[in-house]
Amino acid sequence: MTCLIGEAMTESIRELRGGNMDIDLVPKQSLQWERESCPWNTAEGNSAHKCAVKDTSICRYFRGIKPVDTVLCAYPNSS
Ligand code: SF4
Repeated sequence: MTCLIGEAMTESIRELRGGNMDIDLVPKQSLQWERESCPWNTAEGNSAHKCAVKDTSICRYFRGIKPVDTVLCAYPNSS
């Protein structure tokens, strides 16, 4: 049996640039976890915007990921 907590305390993390990411917060019924909404899609009432589209683009407001799956978003708050 593997202890993941013990591994996390002793592992060293590499930072490797150039990842070809595919990340979005578009609602999807088949996903088994909760997701928050993209504020840009919410403001426009659509699902047009994605954080990173593999082989294509990265959203102008995307600022990366906080472990393990939190999107860092700089979309300006309209309020
Ligand atoms: S970075 Fe922000 S604004 Fe851009 S697609 Fe992701 S959640 Fe939406």
